[in-house]
Amino acid sequence: MRLAHLWDQSRCIGCGACIAACNAANYRSTTKDNPTWGGVQTNIKRIVFDLKEKPYILLVQCQHCENAPCVAVCPTGASYIDRDGLVKINPDLCIGCKYCMTACPYGMRWLDPDFGLPEKCMGETCQSRVKAGLMPVCVTVCPAGARAFGDLDDPNSEVNKRLKKGRVVRLLEYKGTRPKFFVVVGR
Ligand code: SF4
Ligand code: SF4
Repeated sequence: MRLAHLWDQSRCIGCGACIAACNAANYRSTTKDNPTWGGVQTNIKRIVFDLKEKPYILLVQCQHCENAPCVAVCPTGASYIDRDGLVKINPDLCIGCKYCMTACPYGMRWLDPDFGLPEKCMGETCQSRVKAGLMPVCVTVCPAGARAFGDLDDPNSEVNKRLKKGRVVRLLEYKGTRPKFFVVVGR
């Protein structure tokens, strides 16, 4: 099993519902700052490119890399790739050394100010939802249908269906990380 996220930039209306839902579900709606990125504590980062003629937004989160630098550098095995293909953190093994934060080429880990440990997609609530056969909250709340999540090894998964239809890029693919976060940029 290789679970993956897809975000369709051409459908996204930039409402931020996914960002708010991630905060509410995984971080108990805290209004505390995310000290690493700024803004509230959430696993989705909004990057706005002010290109004047055609400003656009990029939503980025953990890419659940198949060749994950964060896993390679973790000295305790706290960062690992689970059997479902998702990259996870075992808080019981994490010593807060932050090597993984430095190693992530996407800057997709942030430091929880209360516990001093790294956080990233997926939060605990979303992990429980996926185990129960549900979608992560960001996928569920998106009013534009811009998000999908599913198994790359299942030809009938929603992710695979959309991959066949759209023009798709993967971020920083040249780094050899084999990211499993697909960005649809058009049809
Ligand atoms: S995006 Fe960063 S945190 Fe996520 S798996 Fe890749 S290297 Fe690790
Ligand atoms: S909820 Fe959907 S439409 Fe809104 S910002 Fe997130 S991906 Fe875009």
